[in-house]
Amino acid sequence: MRTISYTRPSDVPGAIAAVTADPGSAYLAGGTTEIDLLRLDVLRPRHLVDVGRLPLTAIEDLDDGGMRIGAMCRMSDVAESPAVARKFPMLSQALLQGASPQLRHMASMGGNLMQRVRCSYYRDTESACNKRVPGSGCAALDGVNRGHAVLGTSEQCIATHPSDLAVALVALDAMVHVEGETGPRVIPADDFFLLPGDTPEREHPLAPGELITAIGLPAVPMARGSLYLKVRDRASYEFALASVAVALALQDGVIQEVRLALGGVATKPWRARRAEAVLTGQPPGADLFDRAAVEELEPAQPRPMNAFKVQLARRTMVRALHTAAEAGGFA
Ligand code: SF4
Repeated sequence: MRTISYTRPSDVPGAIAAVTADPGSAYLAGGTTEIDLLRLDVLRPRHLVDVGRLPLTAIEDLDDGGMRIGAMCRMSDVAESPAVARKFPMLSQALLQGASPQLRHMASMGGNLMQRVRCSYYRDTESACNKRVPGSGCAALDGVNRGHAVLGTSEQCIATHPSDLAVALVALDAMVHVEGETGPRVIPADDFFLLPGDTPEREHPLAPGELITAIGLPAVPMARGSLYLKVRDRASYEFALASVAVALALQDGVIQEVRLALGGVATKPWRARRAEAVLTGQPPGADLFDRAAVEELEPAQPRPMNAFKVQLARRTMVRALHTAAEAGGFA
């Protein structure tokens, strides 16, 4: 048995100092994934710095119509916030479809963004996994990979990014506020999640000791009509096989602007910029929606067990776009 020491600082500077001082330490927030990984011996910190009670729990409306959400807000509090549900329904829906009620009451917003992949080989210390042990190989390439990614993959890792919340944040051009030894900085959500490339063990552009303090949501008026559509093997408490976050602005019969992001099919929350380019400026319709979906999925690299995801993602995109357009879009 390994001994892990534990502290619970009362402020952000104290937490950052504690983790920065010891490379063998790690932050602990809601613990809904991390505790499992400690028990499985996948993560092996010698010191845990509990940030779960830091005063980072405000859900604030900003003067410009945006919002700022503290990193230690519980998923359930944000999902049930009337302001979030009114301004950013895709975010509320993604959170509500993201976990069981018990997990939503425990898990924090910041912790959700830092959650590790659900690849079963990552969690099995007997299996080769470049993300857990760099250079050891990837058992999923020729293993059971039905749930794995078809976009953004590399020969080093094909694990799907597990977060629903992150898909909505990428579609909304959210900003991740972080703070470290050198002070605060802000990272666009799309840049906060790294492709695996040759370094799948590196998932975020964070310096040692940097801590997420808040999530910034810029005003996106058309997001009032947005939605999050998630397809999965069962109706609750399950990860996405394919999901779509979409917001549309229709004006004079054409799509003036569209935000589209995919979950369940890529190694990071996937902003569908190829599809957005096809859709923008065009009158909405079944042929256009399908053309956009096909264009987005053109670079997909499926494996025999997960090839179905290409068709599933295509159909999920088309259905989400139909639903958003039928609702009238919001300019
Ligand atoms: Fe590890 Fe990624 Fe391969 Fe899964 S897909 S075994 S997480 S390297």
